[in-house]
Amino acid sequence: MTELRALLRPELQGATPYGAPQLDVPVALNTNESAYPVPPVVVDQIAHDVAQVAATLNRYPDREFARLRELLASYLTKTSGEHVTADQVWAANGSNEVLQHLVQAFGGAGRTALGFTPSYSMHPLIAGRGGATWIDGLRDADPKRFDLDADLAVEQTKQHDPDLIFLTSPNNPTGTSIDLDVVRRVYDASDHAIVVVDEAYTEFARTGTRSALTLLPGRDRLVVSRTMSKAFAFAGARLGYFAAATELAELMRLVRLPYHLSSVTQAVACAALEHADTMLAMVERIKTTRDALVDGCLELGLQPVPSDANFVLVGGFADSATAWQALLDEGVLVRDVGIPHHLRITAGTAEENTAVLQALRTVTAAGR
Ligand code: PMP
Repeated sequence: MTELRALLRPELQGATPYGAPQLDVPVALNTNESAYPVPPVVVDQIAHDVAQVAATLNRYPDREFARLRELLASYLTKTSGEHVTADQVWAANGSNEVLQHLVQAFGGAGRTALGFTPSYSMHPLIAGRGGATWIDGLRDADPKRFDLDADLAVEQTKQHDPDLIFLTSPNNPTGTSIDLDVVRRVYDASDHAIVVVDEAYTEFARTGTRSALTLLPGRDRLVVSRTMSKAFAFAGARLGYFAAATELAELMRLVRLPYHLSSVTQAVACAALEHADTMLAMVERIKTTRDALVDGCLELGLQPVPSDANFVLVGGFADSATAWQALLDEGVLVRDVGIPHHLRITAGTAEENTAVLQALRTVTAAGR
């Protein structure tokens, strides 16, 4: 028998696949999805639109996904106050694929990508699988602090001179936002790096947080990526997108596979965007639950990190792995993100919040 693993590209030897557990548990709070189902009025619209598309599935989809780009551009314009046009928008099957397109275009062998750890675990994976060398930057000289130190970020950008830079705001897994001044300064610290601000969770930010979309004018190397997986409650539809300079968006055509967004994907995403207000109706409730989760954790003597996302990074556990298992034994699945003494917990429904706080009470009382 051939040892197939030995035939893999050298950089894949010893690699493990992405694997957030998909377990059947009463309370799943481990992947930052929305706990709320798609509202019936949007379900009806989707069913109607998909039925119409069904008869045309003999044909390839609109390769330029023109209507979807229009709707995404108007959503961004309406919510950020920054005028975004359809030709500035790119979309793909989840923002992971959007990021992959960026790496394929601007990363690759001999190129480097810099991120500030802890951050979204897929950034190094997507960069590395695309052949780029990943550089694990520091957020702060003190690893116990999770804010991104602007001076340190600038210093590391100059030191490593990367081709791609990933900033995440609000950051996963810490939930913390980045000041726009940090984005500005990191951008100015390089004259050639593509700077990607991953704003997957931006709709959950507390008031006063501004999107990096407002920095796009005059910054041709800046990319702001978004997703419909979180606030839009549409993770199963797989639709991510970015806004950037028109020319940068156009360059993505060099790396995408032809017809990468199916007619069905385009139809369901357009239906959801036409009902954006309805789809986003639960965001305020999720923010309330998130804040209640922070308060509840504080009452239990844990150390939650103040969050702008739909999850909370909670510190203060004796041992993360033991606490993770103890919570699972109580029927609650959360995420061990590899930060000692911390676990990441998604804000679910009010009932799920009660359940997770009850489980946390049991686990902390047992000294875990
Ligand atoms: N960026 C960040 C920061 C994320 O946390 C996630 C999902 N966990 C994504 C991007 C990818 O989301 P999707 O591919 O579902 O759009």
